[in-house]
Amino acid sequence: MSLDLEKIDILRYSRQIPVLGASGQLKLLESKVAVVGLGGLGSLISMYLAAMGVGKLIIIDHDIIGVENLNRQILYSTSDLGKPKAEIAGRKLSDLNPLVEVEARNIKVTRDTVGEALKGADIVVDGLDDWKTRLVIDEYIWEHGIPYVHAAADTYYGQVTVIVPGKTTCLACITPKPIPEPGCRAIVAPTVGIVASIEVMETLKLITGAGQPSINKLIIVNVLKPSIEEVSIRPDIDCNACRRALLS
Ligand SMILES: [Zn+2]
Repeated sequence: MSLDLEKIDILRYSRQIPVLGASGQLKLLESKVAVVGLGGLGSLISMYLAAMGVGKLIIIDHDIIGVENLNRQILYSTSDLGKPKAEIAGRKLSDLNPLVEVEARNIKVTRDTVGEALKGADIVVDGLDDWKTRLVIDEYIWEHGIPYVHAAADTYYGQVTVIVPGKTTCLACITPKPIPEPGCRAIVAPTVGIVASIEVMETLKLITGAGQPSINKLIIVNVLKPSIEEVSIRPDIDCNACRRALLS
């Protein structure tokens, strides 16, 4: 790859280029990442991805900002109450890093809208608190062969894994049964901060090729201990999606 250093704002990224290399920074610049859900997880994920200089950031949420969001959703301020999350997030992320193309989509993700919501994304990152929407995204990413960095968090606990169609289990096969009701009712900010940071790191690994993404491994976070553990997860031979990973 020829390195087009003029494309990079060297000073802005001067603390991370020694880690990622110029080629890693250019890969970031060429990436198009969708963050679905702009709550606690999505706030931090989108701010870090914008700060680090992804090329395009597609941010998706249909909610408005409520006062109960402000204990952890650090994209928003008290003066933003009652306004759409996507709109406010888009404005703040563009201000954080004007070099990033930020596209805010005020869309409720359903089977009917998922194509519109995720159009143009190379990677999808999970900022949701709702398993049914995650499963809609799971179907979409398997159809389109796009990696999906999944996370869930509540109280003091969280989990992260990277779903890669054809290489890993699908999300449906590791979804709790019965499917939990939507709504993050109990959470503290450090839980979302740590879990979101791990998601950003997994996204960074997928984009730049640094290290090994956590594929077929579930990262389990306990901020009380504190501990970050990894357990193996296996594709299911009886699942049409997973089976592709076993046959590849
Ligand atoms: Zn499966």
